[in-house]
Amino acid sequence: MNSTIKLSLIIPVFNEEQNIIKLFNKVIEVINKLTKDYEVIFINDGSTDKSLEIIKDLSVKGDKVRFIDFSRNFGHQLAVMAGLEHCKGKKVVIIDADLQDPPDLIVEMYKKMDEGYDVVYAKRKKRKGENFFKKVTAKIFYRLLSNITSFDIPIDTGDFRIINRRIIEVLKQMPEQHKYLRGQIAWMGFNQTYVEYERKERHAGKTGYSFKKMSRFALDGITSFSDFPLKLATFMGFIVAGIAFLLILYALYSRFIIKDFVPGWASLMLSVLFIGGVQLISIGIIGEYISRIAANGRKRPLYLIKETNINE
Ligand code: UDP
Ligand code: MG
Repeated sequence: MNSTIKLSLIIPVFNEEQNIIKLFNKVIEVINKLTKDYEVIFINDGSTDKSLEIIKDLSVKGDKVRFIDFSRNFGHQLAVMAGLEHCKGKKVVIIDADLQDPPDLIVEMYKKMDEGYDVVYAKRKKRKGENFFKKVTAKIFYRLLSNITSFDIPIDTGDFRIINRRIIEVLKQMPEQHKYLRGQIAWMGFNQTYVEYERKERHAGKTGYSFKKMSRFALDGITSFSDFPLKLATFMGFIVAGIAFLLILYALYSRFIIKDFVPGWASLMLSVLFIGGVQLISIGIIGEYISRIAANGRKRPLYLIKETNINE
């Protein structure tokens, strides 16, 4: 790529009308300290508020502002992916639109890259303004995931980071439909490091990650990088089979030795329910993997663009 752009900024946007201008001004101020050869790419992920108008307006006023408008809401990860596929910079910053990721940190991250890193990610020391449930589930999830994968996925880390061309080119070669970018990048290895920060609360508006989106995202992370749940299903199978075997011995013993074989309703119910539960869980786990195989088999485009001012 013969582009002269040194730094691209990728900003996924889903209903952020109150945040865009403030973020944009802040980010421009910070980047201008680093380079004049930059571009800012907003990806409008099916917002239903005035976000798109605001972004388009910015792109008319400034020649360094690009926008991609999705045909509907495809989700945060695909919005970022679209940005990565269409950016021209040698280095790229991924940052949220809600000012939860402090733009000031970009300076430190950018300078760190010069020490020979391919990825500098921002690690959350603390999270503010998020409810107890989100903090606890996120904490547990990141630790669980890093325990069941065979490579290091950094904990308490979102997509706020700076990466170079090498990483982007590899990402483009990873065709999976269900993206878990922070995991994919960790999987690559190369030289990665981090800077720490305190995650602030949203500047305005409310989170675009509903509980449903969050749990789907968590499942994407787990199924993309670990077969542990499948192995767990097998393991549960063995445990249940072991218990069943002991029960068979006991049943034979009471039938032929003690000759006390009044049928026990409670024990029968318990074992039926228990085995039924374990089977359903196992089928569910297998189903999660199969549904992802199916999605990848369909080979649909990851996202559809309605409009953009980026010309290839
Ligand atoms: N976002 C998006 N599509 C979505 C949900 C969120 O592009 O379906 C954007 C959102 O505008 C923000 C970033 O992704 O810039 C992070 O989302 P959010 O702040 O809602 O998530 P949280 O910080 O609460 O985890
Ligand atoms: Mg946020």
